[in-house]
Amino acid sequence: MQDWLKERVYGGNITAELHGKEAVVAGWVQDIRNLGGIAFIQLRDREGTVQLTALKKENRELFKTLTTLNRESVVAVKGLVQPNKEAPGGLEILPRTLDVLNAAAAPLPMGVIDKVGVELDTRLNARFIDLRRPESAAVFRIRSSVLRGIRAQFESEGFIEVHTPKIVATATEGGTALFPVQYFERKAFLNQSPQLFKQMLMATGFDRIYEIGPAFRAELHDTVRHLNEFTSIDIEMAFTDEEGVMGVLERCLQSAVKRVLEERPKELATLNVQLEVPKLPFQRLTYTQCVEIANSKGVKVEWGDDLEMDATKAIAGETQGFYFITRWPTAIKPFYAHPFEDNPKESRGFDLMFGEKEITSGAQRVHEHDLLVQRLKDKGLDPESFDFYLQAFRYGMPPHAGWGLGAERTVMILTRRENVRECVLFPRDRRRLSP
Ligand code: ATP
Ligand code: MN
Repeated sequence: MQDWLKERVYGGNITAELHGKEAVVAGWVQDIRNLGGIAFIQLRDREGTVQLTALKKENRELFKTLTTLNRESVVAVKGLVQPNKEAPGGLEILPRTLDVLNAAAAPLPMGVIDKVGVELDTRLNARFIDLRRPESAAVFRIRSSVLRGIRAQFESEGFIEVHTPKIVATATEGGTALFPVQYFERKAFLNQSPQLFKQMLMATGFDRIYEIGPAFRAELHDTVRHLNEFTSIDIEMAFTDEEGVMGVLERCLQSAVKRVLEERPKELATLNVQLEVPKLPFQRLTYTQCVEIANSKGVKVEWGDDLEMDATKAIAGETQGFYFITRWPTAIKPFYAHPFEDNPKESRGFDLMFGEKEITSGAQRVHEHDLLVQRLKDKGLDPESFDFYLQAFRYGMPPHAGWGLGAERTVMILTRRENVRECVLFPRDRRRLSP
């Protein structure tokens, strides 16, 4: 590597003060147009592309090397920046020094600038090339801002970041959706949710915690919304109820959208997405209202049934943007959702929705030990296997509430992607374990 590479700037966003000066740029040779005496090379880096204009008569050797490279080779160039109305971006660089850092092999597993649509499977197989395409990279730059916005909200509201174990002995909900792992001479599992651990932390006095980490679910689903490994954004908060944590959630999503608008206007334009800062508070519908809406639109739902896709599609028609569904039947929410004291058939569980898609589930939790044991039994679970968790409820557990928000589903909604796999770098699904 040449010493001058240290002076590298992004060719994709060279500013006017560099006009007439020497600059160092480096990146991928995206396209070469050789007209004989003059050649135009599109050099791409993280921020976009810049035109290199090479003249044969200036430097025959450099001209030859640059024009005979395979597409997507990596080069560094030092040259004069000058305005050129004809060049894309209004400027060009006249290369004086060239360093070929790594020549690419041909043919490429997939094209970077070809206009023809490529199947998602092909893109995911060649993900390192797919992510050179601005549309693919934009999703992850937006994802980064979404997470930054949410994290900033947590920090401004006094949340402490924690990390709970991902190798665990018991299922969070006794479900079957667990990946087993061999843990020395015992059987263990990959955790499907930090639920039990974040609740235990409410017995410590931490008061407000958040975790952003992986969750593993051995679900057999093959849908555009399900991954077998996803990133879960979780909070737990003491001395509050479900409304308290719904407020945190609304503010987090508002903060995320603001960040994206501030930091990623270019990426939003690349994806042709218009975003608006959502207004607070989000709309709230009770589960009972949702059942009525669905039935009034010809989707048969009995009170107590889960809301399937046809029902949530009908409900989505009555909503705009994000909305909450509250007061779910206790029977279809997990054991840790707190029943309403005056009407135990309904719980303090809620979901946050966008259109027909669920992106968050949360609740005020059961904090009373004996009620929790009863709720486990009601769900057919064995309290003994939850002993490590139940202990935390015996020696001073405050009332608390929390939620889990799927990072990929959030990004999917904000970037208007159709498949959640587009919002994770290397998706894990029923068929895909590599790359
Ligand atoms: P769904 O009913 O859509 O399968 P869920 O109710 O099983 O989701 P929760 O256990 O409530 O999911 O998890 C909380 C959040 O985590 C969900 O609202 C969603 O955003 C995200 N999530 C859950 N499972 C998955 C998955 N398999 N792939 C991607 N995100 C998921
Ligand atoms: Mn849920």
